[in-house]
Amino acid sequence: MIVTPKFRGFICTTSHPAGCEYSVRQQVEYVKKQKRISGAKKVLVIGASTGYGLSSRIAAAFGCGAATIGLFFERQASGNKTASAGWYNSAAFEKFAREEGLYAKSINGDAFSNEIKEQTIELIKKDLGKVDMVIYSIASPRRIHPVTGEVFNSALKPIGSPSTVKTVDFHTQQVSESTIEPADEEEIRQTVAVMGGEDWDMWMKALKEADVLEQGAVTIAYSYVGPEMTHAIYRKGTIGRAKDDLEATAIKLTENNKDMGLKAYVSINKAVVTQASAAIPVISIYISVLFKVMQDMNIHEGTIEQMYRMLNDRVYSGDMKLDEKGRICMDDWEMRPEVQAEVARLWAEANNENIREISDIEGYRKEFFRLFGFEFDEVDYSADVDIDVKIASIE
Ligand code: NAD
Repeated sequence: MIVTPKFRGFICTTSHPAGCEYSVRQQVEYVKKQKRISGAKKVLVIGASTGYGLSSRIAAAFGCGAATIGLFFERQASGNKTASAGWYNSAAFEKFAREEGLYAKSINGDAFSNEIKEQTIELIKKDLGKVDMVIYSIASPRRIHPVTGEVFNSALKPIGSPSTVKTVDFHTQQVSESTIEPADEEEIRQTVAVMGGEDWDMWMKALKEADVLEQGAVTIAYSYVGPEMTHAIYRKGTIGRAKDDLEATAIKLTENNKDMGLKAYVSINKAVVTQASAAIPVISIYISVLFKVMQDMNIHEGTIEQMYRMLNDRVYSGDMKLDEKGRICMDDWEMRPEVQAEVARLWAEANNENIREISDIEGYRKEFFRLFGFEFDEVDYSADVDIDVKIASIE
């Protein structure tokens, strides 16, 4: 089949298998060129198929030589409907890992459910015995509580008062302002239930009870802070409340598991284009401007550079360089005063006439389509491809 992008706003409903494979290969090649990391050996990645989770899996496997179990919620191809990008990414990852002689197995299902937790634990017991690192990288709009069955939906809204934000439609490159009404208490509660720390906590309890965590294991979840101009919608909004809860969970997990020396961290990662971040209104214009500024300063990073740096320079370097709240700060380059001063200056000026000069809006658009395997010069999009790609470890 010839696969072309079919998109609506920040959603692309088709993915290109060869393009996704190419994109995973690029990440693998990047890590293979770096110094080997003496670190994790058996890693569970929850949310392993796209964005930060996929890059964490690649950095652990090809950087540390780790065996990985990857868990995700993706769609396989059916009829003439392509699989989701995360499905193709995971098929490619397993292929490259096996070529390298690395153990790699995947589980596709709802990580929030008890059933998938049990299935994962069984697989760890059977194949790895125990794991020494657990990465928690879920981004989801919805969660079904495994005990009560309550369905929670997350909201991306400010808290307290309405917020007027600049945003850009990266397809049309039109800048506009829109006002987002504040969330009510119920929306805050539901967002915290989806993106806060409860499920991470449930995972770690289940893994500990099943005795599949090595003594001194490390677990890391991901968060974001960002500059003042994004705070109303992000850090001081509903999603920020969820991240406060996630960060508090890290402290609690370390405290409550001293007996086995578990170390739980939150890593504050840089703003990048992923399926999750594309859904946040103010973030598209912020990232477009940020990319240009960081590229001009030669300090641009994507997810793979960040995740390799996190493992090599922080987690397994002997010096985590934690901030005053005990967090790993991978946003250190993004938050440099000179970067933020320039972003703030350009951001204030952004309008329809100058958006192409003052930001990398074209780069943003390209990155968005690359998440789905499109826009790579090296891939022949006129070629017929088999969309029914199997993930080696999934029947
Ligand atoms: P993403 O959308 O690329 O990845 C989400 C992953 O979660 C995918 O592997 C998906 O399959 C999986 N997933 C979603 N629902 C699931 C479910 N019910 N069961 C199993 N798997 C499920 O997102 P991302 O941007 O890489 O986000 C990962 C984490 O990084 C989030 O905590 C996010 O807040 C954080 N983060 C992102 C950015 C950014 O700019 N993108 C910056 C800092 C921190």
